[in-house]
Amino acid sequence: MRAYFDHNSTTPLAPEAWSAMQHIFAEIHGNASSIHREGQVARQHLEAARRQVAQLLQAKAEEIVFTSGGTESNNLALFGVAGHIITTAIEHPAVLNVTEELQRLGHAVTVVPVGATGIVDPENIRRAIRPETRAISVMAVNNEIGTVQPVAEIGAIAREHQILFHCDAVQAPGRIPIDVNAWQVDLLSLSAHKLYGPKGIGALYVRKGTPLRKRSFGGHHERDRRPGTENVPGAVGFGRAASVLSIPSNDLRDRLEAAILATVPNAIVNGDRDHRAPNTTNICFSGVEGESLVIALDLKGFAVSSGSACSSGSVEPSPVLLALGRSPSDARSAIRFSLGASNTEEQVDALARAIAESVSRLRKLSPAYV
Ligand SMILES: *Cc1c(COP(=O)(O)O)cnc(C)c1O
Repeated sequence: MRAYFDHNSTTPLAPEAWSAMQHIFAEIHGNASSIHREGQVARQHLEAARRQVAQLLQAKAEEIVFTSGGTESNNLALFGVAGHIITTAIEHPAVLNVTEELQRLGHAVTVVPVGATGIVDPENIRRAIRPETRAISVMAVNNEIGTVQPVAEIGAIAREHQILFHCDAVQAPGRIPIDVNAWQVDLLSLSAHKLYGPKGIGALYVRKGTPLRKRSFGGHHERDRRPGTENVPGAVGFGRAASVLSIPSNDLRDRLEAAILATVPNAIVNGDRDHRAPNTTNICFSGVEGESLVIALDLKGFAVSSGSACSSGSVEPSPVLLALGRSPSDARSAIRFSLGASNTEEQVDALARAIAESVSRLRKLSPAYV
């Protein structure tokens, strides 16, 4: 029996999304840009999906641009605004590696640090604003530690200075409510596979009237913002998943965290326990190599992650945890548990027991742990 505790890395497909997609794959083959009946039927499904995604954000359907996922949405947003950009030290690689490339291309970027719990102080963002600043890019919910940023305050600062606000909100749906107007956001990235939708589709919310340079060239799809034949089955799965999504309570996460802290000595929770997504906990098990613990738990039937999935395979400590001030060895000892719809109390209790057992065994083997 397997138990999956890695929902920030990807989620299983919602059954509702799967059956909606099956219908499209089997019955609806038209190109949504064709004018004949087959094309128009496909177009209707695509536009219904666009409305469902818009509703998740309190946005208008015409402000939703479908993309291939969160990474492409971030690239489209950040390359599209090019100019001085302000961002934070704990963004996803799909933002930080884009801003690094923009720097190589000669654009100025300011990376604002975060506090010890991973929250960025909006006043530090304000102080980084220069006359030539074009945009602020701050994520809503951190993928590794679940920290929720003060996005509405940052949006207000951007608006006050008449600069654009981009938010990587890939980890927000199903964790916190999203409201593009309350947040005063101009550009916002989403990914379907992080909200029980299919892989390979995402969206960029583009507030009406936002100037955005094109990133790729072809046909005039998606209101001329993103060319290429529309992924109708993907969009339909995305829309359906968005429409059945709900925000879980933090009970199971808290139960897991409490059980770990009660049974494992020297376990430290990373991130901000007051401003955190309800499904995520990230814990340092000092003296343990995170990767070894991931493997030990995998053998016992549990899927967990050591930091960001995007940097696994390398033994580099998580840049997010380093930005919080953790030592490299503590950062390397961290495990992220991200819960989701299928998890049960029994799974949580079994995981906590497996962690206590594995950590104590790994620590006995560790020369560094005394
Ligand atoms: C997963 C993730 C992305 C990348 O999304 P893809 O759809 O996998 O490209 C971007 N930002 C955050 C915060 C993520 O968690």
